[in-house]
Amino acid sequence: RAKELGRNRFCFYTAAMNAEALAQLELEAGLRRALERNEFALHYQPKVNLRTGQIIGAEALIRWQRPGSGLEMPGRFVTLAERTGLIVPMGSWVIDEACRQLRCWRDAGWLDLRLAVNVSERQFYSGDLQRIVSDALARNGVPPACLELEVTESMLMEDPQQTIAILQSLKRIGVKLSLDDFGTGYSGFAYLSRFPIDALKIDQSFVRDIVTEPESALIAVSIIELAHRMGLKVVAEGVETEAQLGYLQMHDCDEMQGYFFAKPVPAESFLDFMIAGKTLSLTRLPPLAAEH
Ligand code: C2E
Ligand code: MG
Ligand code: MG
Ligand code: MG
Repeated sequence: RAKELGRNRFCFYTAAMNAEALAQLELEAGLRRALERNEFALHYQPKVNLRTGQIIGAEALIRWQRPGSGLEMPGRFVTLAERTGLIVPMGSWVIDEACRQLRCWRDAGWLDLRLAVNVSERQFYSGDLQRIVSDALARNGVPPACLELEVTESMLMEDPQQTIAILQSLKRIGVKLSLDDFGTGYSGFAYLSRFPIDALKIDQSFVRDIVTEPESALIAVSIIELAHRMGLKVVAEGVETEAQLGYLQMHDCDEMQGYFFAKPVPAESFLDFMIAGKTLSLTRLPPLAAEH
C-alpha cells in the first residue's frame, strides 16, 4: 500500500517536472518566434527632473504580447533570453525601436526628450553593440545624445579593461551612458572613476526604504554626493511615495522615475502625458512645507 502511494507520488512529481520543463521549452520556442512575429513592445516610464518637475524623457522597458498569455513582463523571459543568446537580436530590436520612437517624438516637436534602453551583458560584450547603436541612430536620423544606454554595475566587472574600451567606443558615438541598479554591485570607487559614464541610478531597493531605514538613506545620500563629486547626474528609480520624493529632493537628487509619478506606459499614453503637459507637483517641497 505504502509502496503504491510512493510510486504514485513519484509519478506525480515526474509529471510536475515534465510540465515545468515543457513550459520552459514552450517559453523558449515562443521567444524564438516572437521577433519574427513582432510580438515585442516597448513601454515607456517617464523620467522627471526633480527641480523643474518636468518630464525629460523616459526609460524603455520591454514587454512581450505573448499569444494566449497576455502581457509578459521581462522578469519572466529576459533571463532565458540571456541564457539562449536570444537577448542579442532582441536587444538590437529594442535599440532600433527606441530610435524609431525618438524619431516620432522629434517629428511631433518634442526635440528635448531623451530615451534610455537597458543593455544586457551578452549584448554588451557581443562585439557588435557600437555598430548596432550607430546604425539605428543613423537609420532613424536621431542625434546620439538623445539615446541613453543603461548598463548594470555588476556586468561591468567581468573584465574592466575590455569594459572601459567598449564604454569608450560607445561614448565616441555620442550616446549617454548610465549605471543601473547602482549600489548593488561591487565596482568600487577606483573603477567607477575610470568608466566614462554620465549618470548613476540609485537602485530601487534603497529608495524603497529611504524614509524608514537609516542605512538605506545613508547609502542613497552617499550615492548622490559621490555622483555629484564625480560630475555625474544621479537618478532615483522606484519612487512610490511623496515622502520618498521629498527626501530625494531635499538631498539634491537630479531626476526620478517611479510609480508615484507614472508606471511604464505604451507610447500613446506617454504622448498623452506630453500633450497634457503632465508635471510632477512640487508644491510639497520641504522649503514650502517649512512655511507652515
Ligand atoms: P530596470 O532597468 O532596473 O527597470 C526598472 C524596473 O522597475 C522596471 O521593471 C520598472 O517597471 C520597475 N519600476 C519602475 N518604477 C517602479 C516603482 O515605483 N515601484 C516598483 N516596484 N517598480 C518600479 P520591468 O519593466 O519589469 O523590468 C525589469 C527589469 O528587466 C529591468 O530593470 C531590466 O533589468 C530588465 N529589462 C527591461 N527591459 C529590458 C530590455 O529591453 N532589455 C534588457 N536587456 N533588459 C530589460
Ligand atoms: Mg534600467
Ligand atoms: Mg534599475
Ligand atoms: Mg533592475
